[in-house]
Order: sequence, then C-alpha cells, then structure tokens
Amino acid sequence: MSTDRIPLAGVIGSPIAHSRSPRLHGHWLKRHGIAGHYIPMDVPAEKLEETLRLLPALGFVGLNVTIPYKEKVLELADLVTDRAALIGAANTLIFRPDGKIHADNTDGYGFIQNLRQAAPDWRPEAGPAVVLGAGGAARAVLSALLEAGAPEIRISNRTRHRAEVLAREFGTRVQVTDWLQAGNIIEGAATLVNTTSLGMTGHAELRVPLDALRPETLVTDLVYAPLETRLLRVAREMGCPTVDGLGMLLHQAVPGFERWFGLRPEVDAETRAAVLG
Ligand code: NAP
Repeated sequence: MSTDRIPLAGVIGSPIAHSRSPRLHGHWLKRHGIAGHYIPMDVPAEKLEETLRLLPALGFVGLNVTIPYKEKVLELADLVTDRAALIGAANTLIFRPDGKIHADNTDGYGFIQNLRQAAPDWRPEAGPAVVLGAGGAARAVLSALLEAGAPEIRISNRTRHRAEVLAREFGTRVQVTDWLQAGNIIEGAATLVNTTSLGMTGHAELRVPLDALRPETLVTDLVYAPLETRLLRVAREMGCPTVDGLGMLLHQAVPGFERWFGLRPEVDAETRAAVLG
C-alpha cells in the first residue's frame, strides 16, 4: 500500500444494518494483524456522490457497494471493468492513488469460487445450467457460468420479460422457459442455481417441481439465510451435491480485501464461523 495512514474500507448501502461484510472483513483484518478498519455506512441517495468524492481524502482505499447503489455507482466511477459493465452493476470500488474510482463486480467470481471450493468435482461444461430468477444476482451468475464453459443456460423467471432481456444480452447459449414450466428444464442439467429470493427467511418457498432432478446435478442456492434452504434439503435427499450461498458472499469479498489491504485472505471454516457469529 502506498499510504502511511491506517487504511479504511467499508460498505455503503441503505439500509446497511443487515450486512455481514463488516464482520467478515473485521475477522480477516484481525486474523492477519492488519492495522485497518472496515465500516458500514448507511448513505442517503442524495449524498452518494458527495460521499464517494470525500472518502478517499479521509483515508479510504475502497468500498463494497450493496442495495440500492450497485447500478448507480457505475455512473459515478471513472473506470469500470468489463465484467461490471456486462453485469450492469458494481459491488467493489477501489480508490486509486491518482484519485480515480475503479468499479468492479466480484459476485460472479464469488459464485464460481464457492462452487469450485465446495464441490471440486463440479464440471460446468458437462451439461446445461438451469438458472431460476433474472434479477441482479442472476446477471452475475449468468456471466460467470458462460465464462466457466456451460454449454447452454436455461433460465426461468416469474416475470418472463426480465429473463428475455438477459437472453438477448447474453447471447444464444441462453434459452428462456416460462416460470410455470421451470420444473421441466431441470432434467439433464449439470448445474441448478436459485438466484431468486424465494426460500429466504421471511419469504415464500421456492415451489418449482424437483422430480426431474438427478444425483449428477450440482444444486446451489444464493439464499444463505437459512443456510440449508428447502431446495438444498430436497436436492441433498435426492443424492445431489449441494452448495449453500454463504460461500459466495465470502469469496466475492476476497478481491476487494486484497486490493485494499494488500493480502489475499483465505475462505475456510474459521471464516464461515466468524461470519455466522
Ligand atoms: P432482485 O434483483 O430483486 O431479484 C429478485 C429475483 O427473485 C427476481 O428474479 C424475482 O422475480 C424473484 N422473485 C422475488 N419474489 C418472487 C416470487 N414471489 N415468486 C417468484 N420469483 C420471485 O434480487 P437479487 O439482487 O438478484 O438477489 C436475489 C437473491 O440472491 C436474494 O435472496 C439475495 O440475498 C441473494 N444474493 C446472494 C448473494 C450471495 O453472495 N450469496 C449475492 C447476491 C444476491 P421477478 O423478476 O418476477 O420479480
């Protein structure tokens, strides 16, 4: 790091109290004995730009960005990585010494790293991937699966139009199916991903029929509260390898921490335990 000040990073959003990022980065800072701080900041929309311009002067080296600012920060950044531009949102900002704000999106990286670590035998290129949902997280998952070599992606969303927009943007390997038919596209999939908020504590359950699931399909859920969703439980009972969504949250944080604090942190059982508290 070029600065002799104590480096500061944080997460901006609104609301922010639910964020697990302060606990995660705080754990890594302590574990590696780094003199730095990571601070949650609830920033009102009308103060977003002013805040981004001010923070570097106060010793901030970067930020995570969460709802509702992941799209807005792209307009305020000076440099946007290709993957953030493709996804249309950023979750990681780097404040460069030359004053420029660099915006990146590490959600897709976190998604893939989580699967590679938790299911080393997973082969995304072995068959189609099924993606349920077409919101912000689905965009990151789609781009990551395509990059990982999925030969075909079958996407289904309650609001069909949103899935069609994604298919148009991401190309001919992406096929759209009606939400009511989502159970029919599971057969033969190498990967099944829930990117909807269904199954999350306080939300309705995901009710897509899972009878066509086979033990060779890796099943993962972006929802991590609860850790084992109904989708993951049913898939596990049917003999499928399953991976929960907490690891994605942990892995997406690695590139930001490394850029800000100069050390690449490990994601392991201790990290999970620290975040689960
Ligand atoms: P989003 O942009 O608001 O998208 C929400 C998605 O859920 C849309 O596809 C939406 O369908 C669908 N949905 C919501 N309610 C539904 C219902 N009652 N029936 C059917 N579909 C419904 O949210 P997001 O940012 O993509 O996040 C989605 C989930 O992923 C959240 O639970 C979030 O916490 C989780 N997530 C986890 C990680 C991680 O690191 N593990 C990272 C990012 C996100 P419509 O288009 O029809 O509304």
